[in-house]
Amino acid sequence: MAMDLGLRGKVAAVAAANDGLGYAVAHVLAEEGARVCICGRRAGVVDEAVAALRRDTGAEVSGIAVDLRTADGPQRFIDAAVAAHGGVDVLVCNAGGPRPGAFEELNDADWQGAFELTLLSAVRLIRGALPSMRSRGGGRIAAITSTSVRQPIPGLLLSNSLRAAVTGMLKTLSSELARDAILVNAVAPGRINTSRVRQIDADRAQRTGSDPQAVAADYARAIDLGRYGEAEEFARAVAFVVSWANTYQTGSVVSVDGGIVRSV
Ligand code: NAD
Repeated sequence: MAMDLGLRGKVAAVAAANDGLGYAVAHVLAEEGARVCICGRRAGVVDEAVAALRRDTGAEVSGIAVDLRTADGPQRFIDAAVAAHGGVDVLVCNAGGPRPGAFEELNDADWQGAFELTLLSAVRLIRGALPSMRSRGGGRIAAITSTSVRQPIPGLLLSNSLRAAVTGMLKTLSSELARDAILVNAVAPGRINTSRVRQIDADRAQRTGSDPQAVAADYARAIDLGRYGEAEEFARAVAFVVSWANTYQTGSVVSVDGGIVRSV
């Protein structure tokens, strides 16, 4: 039997989606026939991403510029999705990554900022979307996290800490929302080829007197599949867990990492 993702006509709000993994998720969901609302920080780039998504997929796509770190940004994004498309069936929580740094390089403001960007933005997005999902008889929530939740990454203390918090929050929430037919999962990228990862490699190359290709080749050696993932490969995994083909997977963390994580 062919697998139909059942996303046609559903409304998907994909946060932080003018670029990178969020954009790739929005693209796959739009290709699957969902109506998609995206957000990003800057109006110009959001408008460009909306135009590109419409052009490539022919789907109904809208977007709004909000800062997900602010108290009202996440709610304004959800309100925009409801205003444009009549409700929300799917929510993908995503935001930029917290800054790198070892313990003694980080002050209270860094910790507070990471809390607001990584954990509180997801809490506020979910809080905003729940009334609509409930009134529509169910929903799907996924958060883009990191393989740092399975294997902490040296030098990324804020990510290692706050994404663990997101994971605990989602696991508890998946139990609380099961009775409302809302399935909640996390999808953890390993090393996926986005502009952010290319920038991180370029910075590392500069620090070590190497070149970005050599840095990437070094990382690739640690990945069983021998290469970085592409954003679309990651997005397909997200599309499944937020689809109506997924009827029994909730409270899980799905790694999409080419085998880089050493634990089971
Ligand atoms: P990216 O930097 O390419 O994209 C981040 C997106 O978030 C952009 O669209 C940006 O406009 C938006 N954004 C950032 N801060 C925002 C804010 N305050 N309000 C609204 N929008 C905001 O990053 P990416 O590579 O696509 O990664 C997405 C997430 O996944 C990040 O949190 C990243 O740390 C995490 N991650 C990525 C990888 C990877 O391999 N790419 C691996 C592990 C974790």
